[in-house]
Amino acid sequence: MTPSTTVTELRRDFHRHPEVGFCEFRTASRAAGVLADLGWDVAVGSDVLAPGARLGVPAPDVLEAAYRRAAETDADDRFLPAMRGGLTGVVATLRGNHPGPVVALRADLDALPLAESDAPDHVPAREGFGSRWAGAMHACGHDGHVAVALDLARRLSDLDFPGTVRLVLQPAEEGGRGARGMVAAGVADDVDVFFAAHLGMGLPTGTVCPAIPGLLANSKLRATFRGRAAHASMAPEQGRHALLGAAAATLGVHTMPSFSGHQTRVNVGLLNSGTSSNIVPDTAVMLLETRADDGAVNEDLERRVRDVLAGSAGMYGLELDVELVGAVTTALNDARLADVVERATRAAGATVTGPGAGIGSDDATAFMRRVQENGGAGCYFGIGADSPAPHHASRFDVDEAALPVAVAVLERVFRAGTATN
Ligand SMILES: [Zn+2]
Ligand SMILES: [Zn+2]
Repeated sequence: MTPSTTVTELRRDFHRHPEVGFCEFRTASRAAGVLADLGWDVAVGSDVLAPGARLGVPAPDVLEAAYRRAAETDADDRFLPAMRGGLTGVVATLRGNHPGPVVALRADLDALPLAESDAPDHVPAREGFGSRWAGAMHACGHDGHVAVALDLARRLSDLDFPGTVRLVLQPAEEGGRGARGMVAAGVADDVDVFFAAHLGMGLPTGTVCPAIPGLLANSKLRATFRGRAAHASMAPEQGRHALLGAAAATLGVHTMPSFSGHQTRVNVGLLNSGTSSNIVPDTAVMLLETRADDGAVNEDLERRVRDVLAGSAGMYGLELDVELVGAVTTALNDARLADVVERATRAAGATVTGPGAGIGSDDATAFMRRVQENGGAGCYFGIGADSPAPHHASRFDVDEAALPVAVAVLERVFRAGTATN
């Protein structure tokens, strides 16, 4: 980054090079390099991400291929080696000129396993910054989050703010897999105030929702049903039909009762089984999730889902293995921090708005919870950004006019101080 690099140019650079969870080697190392060059105290790798606390880590060969691709592109060699094996977290800290609390901001680094639209009216395609790495796309706005965090860091490098600012660049937000490893490494233990912000969220450009309520807890599961292959005509009774067990489980999961008084969701999102029409399938692999607006309700839901999986496997004589591959908790926003965000929004000339339609999950809540358990405060807010398509769609795009608004609001949040006024 040169002194004249704009937040839009930063965003486009990250957009061109999308990396999925725990594979953000280029993104994380380059962000670390920018922060170090700005004079921030930068930590990466196992110092900020406990390897064993990660969930849903890709296979070693997948991680290694992503690492090599980053090394052969333009990753920052000063930080890349410490990230090998999917340790793609970055923490940057800077102490201001005035006394005050430790205030953190989370920015997530990961893209999604999705092919980006090449339609001529899709702005990244038209303007030449569409994904160069096939099968991955920044379709949630995290490219914007990293760019905004780096531009914010550049502005705060004048040290004219109270206390200490910590930027937490988190891998693998999608699927709720990365935050817990950074929490386990202690990066939030001394934090007094924790903010997370998300671009888009169905909010129009120029608006900010100072506290997104009702973020859902969730559990992501990978279920593997194992049966026995057999000739589908000559000896079907000798087989154990893994596909049928998984199919029954799919219907069982989706026909569970709703919870009165709560928002709950279940979804079987992937089911792979079988090799040929004349073979009884011996294996079926399923990815599924539960969500709820309350952590205890989500635990209850997950327990019931596991019962359905086990019951369906039993019905067809199958062995079952269920692995937790992602988990997100809930967290409440502190009203005092929402007030700080609201004031910063107005001071930046943006419009305060309520939450948009639809709710999701974000494992930034893991940081918020840790800080709140230690007596601190947390807040998750939304920064409006128009998009022609919803999050996680191949035509999703962040309206770049939202990026300077995000930087302006965040700059005011951090310069204002939070625990002292
Ligand atoms: Zn997302
Ligand atoms: Zn997101």
